[in-house]
Amino acid sequence: MNQNAIPLRIIGETMMQQPKSEKKPEELDPFKIAQKQLDEAAAIMKLDPQAHAILREPMSMVQVQIPVKMDNGTTKVFTGFRVHYNFARGPTKGGIRFHPQESLSTVKALAAWMTWKTSLADIPYGGAKGGIICDPKALSTAELERLSRGYVRAIGEYIGPDIDIPAPDVYTTPQIMAWMMDEYSVMEGYNVPGVITGKPLEIGGSLGRGDATARGGMFILREAAKHLHIDLGKASVAIQGFGNAGEFAHKLITEMFHSKVVAVSDSKGGIYNADGLDFDAVKAHKLKTGSVIGFKGAKEISNAELLELKVDVLVPSALENQITSKNAANVKAKIVLELANGPTTPDADEILAKNKVFDIPDFLANSGGVIVSYFEWVQNINGFYWDIDEVYSKLDRKVSKSFWETAETMAKFNTNPRMAAYILAVDRIAKAMKVRGWY
Ligand code: GLU
Repeated sequence: MNQNAIPLRIIGETMMQQPKSEKKPEELDPFKIAQKQLDEAAAIMKLDPQAHAILREPMSMVQVQIPVKMDNGTTKVFTGFRVHYNFARGPTKGGIRFHPQESLSTVKALAAWMTWKTSLADIPYGGAKGGIICDPKALSTAELERLSRGYVRAIGEYIGPDIDIPAPDVYTTPQIMAWMMDEYSVMEGYNVPGVITGKPLEIGGSLGRGDATARGGMFILREAAKHLHIDLGKASVAIQGFGNAGEFAHKLITEMFHSKVVAVSDSKGGIYNADGLDFDAVKAHKLKTGSVIGFKGAKEISNAELLELKVDVLVPSALENQITSKNAANVKAKIVLELANGPTTPDADEILAKNKVFDIPDFLANSGGVIVSYFEWVQNINGFYWDIDEVYSKLDRKVSKSFWETAETMAKFNTNPRMAAYILAVDRIAKAMKVRGWY
């Protein structure tokens, strides 16, 4: 059971105190939220208390210091994390975030959610997550490269194609994955494409990985609309966040279903037009100005207002803790498709369920990303690459299956989609731990 227990800088949480400013109130502490969700699911499914105890905490975690030579000649020290949450079903898997407000609690929560995500998708992985406290927008390309390589040197023994396989997440890109894969390959002395996914195509990336999170979400939305008898061709949509997931969601929801996207936003604010926002025009505006705000022919709205719009589908695609006990009662959408990780707190979940909002949980809604990451890893290991149709059809089959399994479990346990997805995912991990002899 010590596959990942390499003698390393594995240290307890007490040694990893966060700066005071990052402490969050209980309701908004991401790891407390993740544990609360697990506890709720454990009660419904009558999970063995020993399995529950293992699953309440990460198997191991590491915190590293990354000294980076800045362009002005000084050295700045960054803090990074990597958390292996559970590896009962295979090597751990999950993205790396670069964010100024990154915290260990967030990385732990995200690693737990990755564990449920890979299990629900039924791919042979456990869950992990990594992060660096930094503001990537304030770094030059050369500094970003040195930081990315420094992180991999620091956590090098803790990752590998059969140990833990990172990928992109908030503010990390295929270029960053390329530097990281290159650094790891230099350390090993040979080319190791399978150590990281979300790479550029030139060095073993998979076709379809770029928009996989949004595309998987679209397949799931299509199935959810069938389940709820909603005509997506007539649906209005609001999308919070214009990063990899949100931007592609805008494009694909228009292309695939001809739904009307009436509002989008980014970290600077949102825009609204009841007649719909043209994707190409909004994207061109964002490229030119750095934000969606200021787009001609649209009214400016705040991120908070976007969540409360009267739309059929709401797609949170930004960060965690967006729908909380404070605003959940004002959500008017029929379907919430959580392309972001952790956008909804447990208190908000209860309110949404009471108001009959069909909230598709993050680790189902955004599982397309890690599923195509898995396809990329399989292709790297085999050295045989698939065409785009194969990627799309395999992705469609996987996420559609997860959706209907979740819908069936909802009916069986008379519960909401998040709890149903938890029950399915946790049950598979508990069985893997049992048969391995962990309890
Ligand atoms: N960061 C993405 C997620 O949260 C993708 C992870 C991966 O591809 O390993 O699911």
